[in-house]
Amino acid sequence: MPKFGQTSEIVKLMSNKERIRNIGIVAHIDHGKTTMTDSLLAEAGLLSWQVAGSARALDYLEEEQRRGITIKTANISLLHETDGQSYVINLIDTPGHVDFTGKVTRAMRATDGVVVVVDAVEEVMAQTETVTRQALEERVKPVLFINKLDRLIDELKLGADDIQKKLAHIVADFNTLVEIYGEYEFKEKWKADPARGTVVFGSALHKWGFTLDILKQKKMKFADIIENYKQSKYQALSKTLPLHTAILDMTTKNCPSPIEAQKYRVPKIWRGNLDSTIGKALMNCDDHGPTIMCITNVQIDPNNGPIATGRLFSGSVKEGDQLYLIEASRECKVKQVFMYMSAFKEVVDQIPAGNLAALSGLDLVRAGETVVDSAHKEGTVPFEGMRYVSEPVITVAVEPRDPKDLPLLAKALDRLSVEDPNLAIRVDEKTGEYQLRGIGELHLETAVRFLKDYSGGADIATSNPTADYRESVAGKGLVMMAKSPNKQNSFKVQVEAHEESKGLTVEDETKKIGALDDQRNILIDLTKDVRIPGEVRDSIISGFDWACRTGPLCEQPMRNVKVDMIDAKIQEEPALREPKQIKRAISRAILGSFLTAKPFILEPIYKIELSTPTKWFGKCTNILVSRRGKIQTTENRATITMITGYIPVAETIGLSAEMRSSTSGHVFWQSTFDHWERVPEKIAAEIIKQIRIRKGLPPEIPKPDKFVDEA
Ligand code: GDP
Repeated sequence: MPKFGQTSEIVKLMSNKERIRNIGIVAHIDHGKTTMTDSLLAEAGLLSWQVAGSARALDYLEEEQRRGITIKTANISLLHETDGQSYVINLIDTPGHVDFTGKVTRAMRATDGVVVVVDAVEEVMAQTETVTRQALEERVKPVLFINKLDRLIDELKLGADDIQKKLAHIVADFNTLVEIYGEYEFKEKWKADPARGTVVFGSALHKWGFTLDILKQKKMKFADIIENYKQSKYQALSKTLPLHTAILDMTTKNCPSPIEAQKYRVPKIWRGNLDSTIGKALMNCDDHGPTIMCITNVQIDPNNGPIATGRLFSGSVKEGDQLYLIEASRECKVKQVFMYMSAFKEVVDQIPAGNLAALSGLDLVRAGETVVDSAHKEGTVPFEGMRYVSEPVITVAVEPRDPKDLPLLAKALDRLSVEDPNLAIRVDEKTGEYQLRGIGELHLETAVRFLKDYSGGADIATSNPTADYRESVAGKGLVMMAKSPNKQNSFKVQVEAHEESKGLTVEDETKKIGALDDQRNILIDLTKDVRIPGEVRDSIISGFDWACRTGPLCEQPMRNVKVDMIDAKIQEEPALREPKQIKRAISRAILGSFLTAKPFILEPIYKIELSTPTKWFGKCTNILVSRRGKIQTTENRATITMITGYIPVAETIGLSAEMRSSTSGHVFWQSTFDHWERVPEKIAAEIIKQIRIRKGLPPEIPKPDKFVDEA
């Protein structure tokens, strides 16, 4: 039975690796993850039973309490006894809203098993699929908790047979995900199977739950549970079938220990030599190996600076250790080592391999960083970058109302950029305003609230959120020539469409000059007999990058654009071919040719999934369609209807307010970025004009000859 205040016992057990479980809890929003976690905490004495379910202990930030959603990840170590053996369960809470999937991905790296919570009424939903896929991609074993069975009994009044059919359907749906996203060697072993004890059925609200094994031990049948509800005696179920016992037993029995898991997880998440000293230490979860930790979360503590939480894959950490941050190329000394107890941190002497640790003293640390002990800083391969499933597609501008507060804002932005790597922060070179780019309206609203909080109450003005756009071309442009401002250098280029489906490889690698980030733009050198010195090449690439970042239609980034550099005249004399001369010439030629290649704009499209009580179905679809949404599927599940479809990001701004007022807040939905799509012709010109006006540009798109010297 877990108990709070047993830190010393937990610390002692942490070296016994067979008895450690690193577990995440993931779910679609509102499926009951927080309510379930609170039951575990209440049992550990961290929360009184009366408030479990309403206090939301892991949601310790005020913002989370206010909105009722989990934003930051919080961790806790519990002690639990299964079959007479004590285990340490390091529990990692993850955010439930898709706007925060980056944080889910990072939390996942620290775990070896996850409990996927699924609402028995709503069944498997989009976010269930996303989080299960993320777990499988990290080789994290999923087990299943089917929650809210009380609703099937009490509200939907289903009989035992119908309930069992519905539950079997959920298990089968979940296993389809494991079949699709699981790797060959794991998927059969990792499918949920009630007979093997990898599924708990229960009600987090009423704090009961069971595996088939537990039910058998108690000599109970499913019909007995229904009977308890009929006689309103369900409270007793939390005594006979306590939820925490079912969940924690399921994880100790079915989720791997770090020593077992690291053997197959390390080859997937670390690309170094597995036969090297470090490789062996990682695979064996060796306390005596070099210290190697993967940082999954960073929060700024006003007194201690950044607190980096992560998974220690090898070695141990203690106060005073000299560590090296690979990404930041920086050496640091560990000030203190902590173990997390929800909102509280307990200082401990040392944490051994296979566990979670929180460290202070690591300046410049970011989530995703790999930390090694200084003795091994040379040549240590960092952990593989984590794959995120969303990209920032929505922007707000922020500025202090009183310019005196600018330094406060800048400092708060610095802090936020450390804590939230999913947020892109940019200063507009022309206006000097700060722009925050996030993955959804909620993500940005939350970021702005943190910003206000972190800047000590400075009065910060925010613009309305706007969707991001991309500029692209449909055809092949004219060959255009532009000279440098001093007329001494010139470039001839031709822009053409680079199809979305085509890879970025160029048959002859020497011809490729540069490829830009993830927007699939590419520059190819087709010049003959032109000597291009190294530093000029760099200036050409930065001119290309600049043009790609600020397209000529409305200064939005380009996407899927191929630029052929056909000819170049470059002065031999370095003074005549300074970087800014070269940059200007090449970028102007690109912008000019771009405008002759049938240019258009692309907008981001969300995949959207709504669940609505059936009576609001018509209202929902009307709202979606009026906002250029396209409905793909609808499905009735008991009293609710699920709708999936696509909607332009621009049209989702203000969608929550409209939905809330039209359906009295009964509709829930999630949206995730899905793809870029050409903006319909009839509205494109107006959108371009609006963006130009917003950016202080003349409303009309410039003509190609503004950029080039001769066609
Ligand atoms: P999360 O978003 O996954 O963390 O979900 P929460 O734990 O916040 O739960 C969402 C809502 O579902 C809350 O109103 C809970 O009270 C309710 N809820 C959670 N578990 C159950 C359950 O077992 N039965 C019922 N009827 N409601 C539940």
